Amino acid sequence: MSNGEINLRDLQHPDIPVPEEMQSNIAVTSLSSLYNWARSRSIWPMLFGLACCAIEMIATAASRFDLARFGMEVMRASPRQADLMIVSGTVTKKMVVPIVRLYNQMPEPKYVLAMGACASGGGPFKEGYNVVSGIDKYIPVDVYVPGCPPTPQALLYGLIALQKKIERQSLGVGASVPWYGGGPSEEVPIPILGPDIIDPRHAELLRKEAQKNRPTPTVSEALAESAQPESA
Ligand code: SF4
Repeated sequence: MSNGEINLRDLQHPDIPVPEEMQSNIAVTSLSSLYNWARSRSIWPMLFGLACCAIEMIATAASRFDLARFGMEVMRASPRQADLMIVSGTVTKKMVVPIVRLYNQMPEPKYVLAMGACASGGGPFKEGYNVVSGIDKYIPVDVYVPGCPPTPQALLYGLIALQKKIERQSLGVGASVPWYGGGPSEEVPIPILGPDIIDPRHAELLRKEAQKNRPTPTVSEALAESAQPESA
């Protein structure tokens, strides 16, 4: 869509030619293409930001860059009305708990864009005691936008990449749309914040380690242990 007009050429099926003079008025297409075309041009992001990257996200929504051109200007304050989570900023261990909860509350189909170095991998705070080294440790990410911070243009590029990803999904291929007709999706277990953050999916591994109940090995003991071949 551009300048308020619908560009039907985006929808044309490549195997079914339509005469050039009629291409502005007629589109012969598949149900998947029509469905994805509508979805990809009306993505509603969730209204929240985490750190400095959020300022660039706000700039992207303002008049100079104008997310409205992509049908994305309706940032929703409720996860139940959003289909895109833009993780814009440093993800602290405290904040990852509500982020996962909000993700679970979004209806399918839902997408996640990791904006900036912090959300993608921890960024300059990667070794920080309070920082998660990438939101993809907890929820699936569809698009990563690099930069510290990424510019509004970079975020727009990431959003266009997400549109292209949506356009490639097909209702006829279940693996590409696992949520379609599949009922409610499985929730991501909500991390537990204690002295450190704990992912419930690793509970069994943590329990096994705790049960070993041994004193912390010295460096030489740990090296010797790791050099030993694993018993079958
Ligand atoms: S990537 Fe850079 S700009 Fe973005 S939140 Fe992290 S430190 Fe701030």
